[in-house]
Amino acid sequence: AVQMPAVPGNLSKSDAYHEAARGIIPGGVNSNVRLGGWPLCFESARGPILVDLDGNEYVDYALGMGPAILGHAPSDLIAAVQASLSSGQLFAGQHRSELDLARLLQRYIPSAELVRIGMTGSEMVQAALRVARAFTGKNGFIKFEGQYHGWFDNVLVNLTGTPGNGVVPLPVRLQTKGQAEAGTADTHILPWNDLDVVERYLADRGDQVAALITEPVMCNTGVIPPRPGYLEGLRSVCDKHKVVFIFDEVITGFRLGLGGAQGKFGVTPDLSTFAKAFGGGFPLAALAGRREIMSLFASGEVNHSGTYNSNLVSIVAGIATLEQLAANDGEVYRRIDGNGIALIEGMREIAQRRSVNLQVSGYGAVFHTYFADDLEIVDYASHWRADATRQAAFVDALLPLGIRPTRRGTWFVSGAHGSSEIDRTLSAVDEVLRNGL
Ligand code: PLP
Repeated sequence: AVQMPAVPGNLSKSDAYHEAARGIIPGGVNSNVRLGGWPLCFESARGPILVDLDGNEYVDYALGMGPAILGHAPSDLIAAVQASLSSGQLFAGQHRSELDLARLLQRYIPSAELVRIGMTGSEMVQAALRVARAFTGKNGFIKFEGQYHGWFDNVLVNLTGTPGNGVVPLPVRLQTKGQAEAGTADTHILPWNDLDVVERYLADRGDQVAALITEPVMCNTGVIPPRPGYLEGLRSVCDKHKVVFIFDEVITGFRLGLGGAQGKFGVTPDLSTFAKAFGGGFPLAALAGRREIMSLFASGEVNHSGTYNSNLVSIVAGIATLEQLAANDGEVYRRIDGNGIALIEGMREIAQRRSVNLQVSGYGAVFHTYFADDLEIVDYASHWRADATRQAAFVDALLPLGIRPTRRGTWFVSGAHGSSEIDRTLSAVDEVLRNGL
């Protein structure tokens, strides 16, 4: 039986906060992802460290669920945002800095012939699907089991629960009460990382499918790399059936490198979405892609709108973040990678020494810890077989020791993490595993 670890330090102020917040904010949280777990409330954050209301410190590997790639409150980013504040907030019109940010996207993202700026990943995904329908004249889209593309009705499916049995398309599994079932009528759900499945499906139903959307690395169910040749295969089968090929790079974009997953794997999608690391922690997102598709926004034929799109703070934050990420020939990525790999290798060494079946998959910049014997994780169904109870216990045991991965066991590394954080983290992992988790 898994025992809950001791309460981390004194949490009395966090507790009092939550008691008060629950009376006025449903669940005391403003995103359902934050329900459950330790009821922490934070006072501040700097670099790789979070400080809660009671003064407890945590080495942060959640990084706001990925965005804070330069760490918290990085001085150059904050200075750039501060300098912009007296120039206004938003203009219901253009500001000259929008073009600077667009040019940076075009420079770094292989598929970015034209770009549109927005605020969140969820809405950029919807813009991508809409323009793909308009471009192809078809309605359906392929979405893979276990992949998350935001909280709107048509994509919030097949993320939890028993995996499909392999008969495709997989039956739609709604994820929330109140979800419009009709909203999923165009969603075709397939298992990920199996090219044959997609080839057979499109051979049969390609005339109904406008788009195929995929996280190029599955980061919302474990951190699962694409099989060699899978992304290339998707590219060519999409071409064959005139399906718009969309990378959802909300997590991988500017995290796996300046070129995102498309740069890393050398596969160029038609459209791609960015958010999270792109804004360094400020609300910022983008849709980038092929000229002939993106041009449908120019004519007004396809609507993409938003009051806050390209507000000055977000644009300036994006420019400053990309400048920092590109500085010294991408030096920050080498640091992130080096520290992330030190963590991964350190955890594997501890697991072996302590004879615990802790496994680590992914990359230095984003990886996942899970518990399983001899399990090859390639998709949602295989990930489902790992021991989720021990995974939750592992994360819960690390928190009182001042280490905070995401609750699902995904770890994001920032440019602000250094060797002292790595050492502290590995000794906490050692302590947790020594105590017989
Ligand atoms: N797409 C992916 C791959 C994501 O991981 C997320 C958020 O976690 C989203 C889309 C939704 O982005 P947002 O939360 O900014 O709406």
